Amino acid sequence: MNYQSTRNAKITASSTAAVLQGLADDGGLFITKDFGSFDWRGTLQQNAFGMAEAILGALLPDFDDMPALVRRAYTGKFETDELTPLVKVGSRYVLELFRGPTSAFKDVALSMLPQLITAARAQEGVRDEILILTATSGDTGKAALAGFRDVPGTKIIVFYPDAGVSKVQKAQMVTQEGENVCVCAVRGNFDDTQTGVKRIFAAGLPEGSGVRLSSANSINIGRLAPQVVYYFKAYANLLRSGRIHEGDQVDYVVPTGNFGDILAGYLAKRMGLPVGRLVCASNRNDVLTDFLRTGVYDRRRPFYKTISPSMDILVSSNLERLLYLLCEDENEVAGYMRDLNEQGAYTVSDAMLEKLHGEFGCGCCDDVETKETIGRVWKEHGYLMDTHTAVAWKVAEGYESGAPVVVLSTASPYKFPAAVLSAIGGDASGDEFEIMDRLHTLTGVPVPQGLATLRSKPVRHTDVIDREAMQAYVLGKVEHWK
Ligand SMILES: *Cc1c(COP(=O)(O)O)cnc(C)c1O
Repeated sequence: MNYQSTRNAKITASSTAAVLQGLADDGGLFITKDFGSFDWRGTLQQNAFGMAEAILGALLPDFDDMPALVRRAYTGKFETDELTPLVKVGSRYVLELFRGPTSAFKDVALSMLPQLITAARAQEGVRDEILILTATSGDTGKAALAGFRDVPGTKIIVFYPDAGVSKVQKAQMVTQEGENVCVCAVRGNFDDTQTGVKRIFAAGLPEGSGVRLSSANSINIGRLAPQVVYYFKAYANLLRSGRIHEGDQVDYVVPTGNFGDILAGYLAKRMGLPVGRLVCASNRNDVLTDFLRTGVYDRRRPFYKTISPSMDILVSSNLERLLYLLCEDENEVAGYMRDLNEQGAYTVSDAMLEKLHGEFGCGCCDDVETKETIGRVWKEHGYLMDTHTAVAWKVAEGYESGAPVVVLSTASPYKFPAAVLSAIGGDASGDEFEIMDRLHTLTGVPVPQGLATLRSKPVRHTDVIDREAMQAYVLGKVEHWK
């Protein structure tokens, strides 16, 4: 299976090269349109690890020993060997993607990515060490640190905005252990931090530094592929419980930010899984809802800070991959992306819009509805969900096709304890750790181990710098590691 840029069919790469490179040279994203004849029925008979081996093996066929990579990525790291359990809540199903080491769904992909990157490095004969540079608004940073910690041949530097992450998120990062990890606060907001990281990528590292930069962001196909697995896993669970027969369609409702999670569902469908509708759920930042309804993508709109911050996004990078897969015309995609860059907006063709309507549903809800949903689901079903999951649940309520509905759950409620506690009528004043305790006392829902032990862990990373100093900081670290 060969990868190519979404903007130029002449720029191609093997799956190992695509993982190592991250972004194509022309700024496009690596994608394949050749899904071959995947044995999706056989795959449904496997356990979670077997499914991961089969699906990742098919999507990334150039890796020599995928079973070993999967074992190394996931063994003992998740709360259950199922990795992503499916829970019945009322008449719907919640797919819990947050049972990994950092209690956010990014663990599913970021446990696997370091294995893929190091294997690709070896197979491609690269001698340089790989330095992962990440700007984070919270969840990605910690999941990347946990994934890359002490992985040979890699180093990781995570920058987070000084005032832009929650107390729990900060504690998760500054207590990170590992010989190859580095965490640094930047004075400014997330955009400043991200701009700084982009600048460092653009400038590159000096010749002969023995280090090559790479990204843990979802533009990397190696981060997307592991997410395809849980769509199969949920379907297999429904099959085993007798809820569906093989071939029946299942709808998936996905809380969406950068469009990575939901795109993985579309890849599962292209591989043969009987996915019905993929419903894209957004918070008040509803650029995708508008797009999927009208075919006009317009990022020229206010940016809202919400209680589901991982979905506060105006430019969803992975949408570019979907556009390519729907038209298979790199010139058309390149045109849309040019319009987005130059004008801040683009309008897709009627043919494209028709295809989008054929595959996707959409909906959005605001913070008030999100909280109301958390409170109501807790009261009616005794199920406690986080703010991102609640957005998807709310959208799912407005959407019934008759097919079974799987709502993807992307974070533990304890990652956003203040919003969740106040949503179920608790007193959310004071320190975030106190709020976690109160949420536990009130609900009895266990606190994930990684969050429960956080308070007693020593702080290991105390650097704080100005954004102008980010590049010098990275060069200093590279020099120091030599
Ligand atoms: C990253 C994230 C999302 C959004 O996922 P995308 O792949 O960016 O669409 C949703 N919820 C949580 C908790 C996340 O961390």
